Amino acid sequence: MTEAQARRDLVRYSLAMHRAGWVANHDGNLSARVAPDRVICTPTAFSKADVTLSELVVVDDAGKKVAGARRPFSEIALHAAIYSARPDVHAVVHAHPQHATAYGVAGRTIPHPFLPEAVVSLGADIPLVPLTEPGTPAVAALAPFIRRCDAVAVAGNGVFAWGPTLELAYLRLELVEHLARIAWTAQPLGGVQALPPAMVASLVAKRRSGGLAAPEEGAPMGASAAAATPVESGVLARVQAGLPGTSPALVAEITAQIKAALGR
Ligand SMILES: [Zn+2]
Repeated sequence: MTEAQARRDLVRYSLAMHRAGWVANHDGNLSARVAPDRVICTPTAFSKADVTLSELVVVDDAGKKVAGARRPFSEIALHAAIYSARPDVHAVVHAHPQHATAYGVAGRTIPHPFLPEAVVSLGADIPLVPLTEPGTPAVAALAPFIRRCDAVAVAGNGVFAWGPTLELAYLRLELVEHLARIAWTAQPLGGVQALPPAMVASLVAKRRSGGLAAPEEGAPMGASAAAATPVESGVLARVQAGLPGTSPALVAEITAQIKAALGR
């Protein structure tokens, strides 16, 4: 992702997020890593409806401002933690889509998985990160999940999703909200039916063999990064093999898969 592309996509997906009704007031934030120590992000205290190229802010890998007239948002620390733990990730998005956020503020995990396609796209878990104070406690709460998945709901907050491109991070967020809305809609009908464990296992295996899985997906919580990292045909293995980030073909494949799951 070139810096020019990242800037265009930050504006594009900020506006899309607002149009989708996932943000009110100054909610939501987006960033893209264009070099190891260079991240472009949306400004703080700014409606996502009004983000333009000239409002974007440049920060370093610690989230400290490098350039731009405006200030970065405080949750840039969460984005920085994600970039630090995931060399394959170049974009992070955050919003408060109503249904997914409703589960989070109710302290409930979205009852995924119930759609087979979504397991291939997102894995078997959409974790609920526990409620904390903002700042350092929020980073500590998110940290155990970063290498295990590509999207989380956060209690008392909204959804964070990440990926190799802004498009894919945004699509993941969209899919999380889509699933939450379906689960919500199914409640009067008796609620969604969980997929049989054997089917989930086979879908997860398919995802893993396709190189779609997060580096430590399925690893037990609390395992150290080194101990829990299987050297497999996944994204991390590609990074470890010295390839610069994720291959465009793989990104295109995952993107197409999520679009299919969303019916596009
Ligand atoms: Zn938020």
